[in-house]
Amino acid sequence: MCSDISHYTIQQNDKYGRYLVASRDLDAGELIFCDTPFAVGPKPDTPPLCLGCYVPVDNTLCSRCGWPICSVECESSSQHVAECAVFATAKVRFQPVDDWTTCAPQLDCITPLRVLLAKEKDPHRWQYELEPMETHTEARQKKQTWSADQVNVVNFLVDHCKLGNKFDKELVQKVCGILEVNSVEVPSHGGFSIRAIYPRLAITAHSCVPNIVHTVLSNDYRVQVRAAIPIKSGENLYLCYTYALSPTLVRREFLVESKFFYCDCHRCADPTELNTHLSTLKCSKCDDGVILPTNPLENEAMWMCSDKNCGFKTSSAAIRKMLAVVQAETEQLDALEPGPAAIEQREATIKKYKSVFHPRHSILLSLKHSLAQLYGRVEEYNIDELPDVLLERKVEICRLVLKTLDVITPGETRMRGMMLYELHAPLMFLARNEYGAGLITSDQLKEKLQEPIKCLADSARILQREDPHSPEGITGQIAQQSMEQLIASLESL
Ligand SMILES: [Zn+2]
Ligand SMILES: [Zn+2]
Ligand SMILES: [Zn+2]
Ligand SMILES: [Zn+2]
Repeated sequence: MCSDISHYTIQQNDKYGRYLVASRDLDAGELIFCDTPFAVGPKPDTPPLCLGCYVPVDNTLCSRCGWPICSVECESSSQHVAECAVFATAKVRFQPVDDWTTCAPQLDCITPLRVLLAKEKDPHRWQYELEPMETHTEARQKKQTWSADQVNVVNFLVDHCKLGNKFDKELVQKVCGILEVNSVEVPSHGGFSIRAIYPRLAITAHSCVPNIVHTVLSNDYRVQVRAAIPIKSGENLYLCYTYALSPTLVRREFLVESKFFYCDCHRCADPTELNTHLSTLKCSKCDDGVILPTNPLENEAMWMCSDKNCGFKTSSAAIRKMLAVVQAETEQLDALEPGPAAIEQREATIKKYKSVFHPRHSILLSLKHSLAQLYGRVEEYNIDELPDVLLERKVEICRLVLKTLDVITPGETRMRGMMLYELHAPLMFLARNEYGAGLITSDQLKEKLQEPIKCLADSARILQREDPHSPEGITGQIAQQSMEQLIASLESL
């Protein structure tokens, strides 16, 4: 599936270290490269999960080494065999825990150990692909995770598991740094989030407006990297290392904490986030003003009302605190089962904060993103029973989310594919309702159904690049079938 012709070159500068540059013009959706993980395993702070397939386990252990494993098949899976031998030889077993659903720091050593074992197996790949990776050792030493890693990973593997004759402590700590700085979160077969380290993906530079997308395939965790938009030869390839819908304050804080750099991309530098208003607040002291950071690249800079006559000012600390409070409130909504309450409570929260946030602020937009997926899919709100006013609400929020995606993650992304799929249904039902009520002719109906057909075609094209067993991949197949059915139904009109 991956061509041998290279679509990129590796370059180096002071700002990014090593980074990738397109070496020819690329089309939207074009495959740029595939990458095989050097190692895959649990991320820090996860509850006990099977070391073969990563489903959560409850007191089921490997018969050979005594570490969490769900089944006989997983005991001898390729993921687990090498470390199984290490633990069995050293007679180091997983220590029983009281609660199998809370974080088990014992598992923190697994992925570093897998990197070390992979290094032994493939020293060449280690030397050329992993060894040169950024570790930000000085910055990491100041963080709590450094001492936690020293105990849970470095001392545990070297002293307790008696690996000192193979790996010294400095090397193990370096591996922890390589993983912390360069690994990415990936979905596992069990739907559980784990981490993997991809040498080439890791050297892609970051931007909060990325131009590439990546897809992880579930059978072997290979990653495919594609152009999201047309990219010209000579342009940098940019991946987004953080959640793209977050506001600038939250994104930059995450990037400093976990990736050790201050992002100064053109989106971060713009107080309005390129007119998406993901960070914008409404002013409570005047009618039309909005509150924006005076300098978004300066964490402590004041926030100020845009209306010169108003002049209201507040500190970034106050903004951060307010965001954290509302964020905690909206996160509670994520715990709700999909059902009528999940819709109604989100709508109520949007109403409650209407006068605080810009309608496209990150917090309101995330709520709307969830609503776009709930309307038409839950009890009492099934798509064929939604009144026109709620079909129109679903259309409105899908379009609002898509308008923001156009700017911050332009091109052919999973999120766009999913939103286009959501948009097709209410458009289709609205058109049919109008026709059913005798308000439009069959020719006008055909005309109106062109947009949902286009939504389905774009959604199918984007999502069929995803793993066929992932929710996105499955939606892609459904979009394709729905499009074919809709086109066929037009012919019989
Ligand atoms: Zn398993
Ligand atoms: Zn084992
Ligand atoms: Zn940025
Ligand atoms: Zn004001």
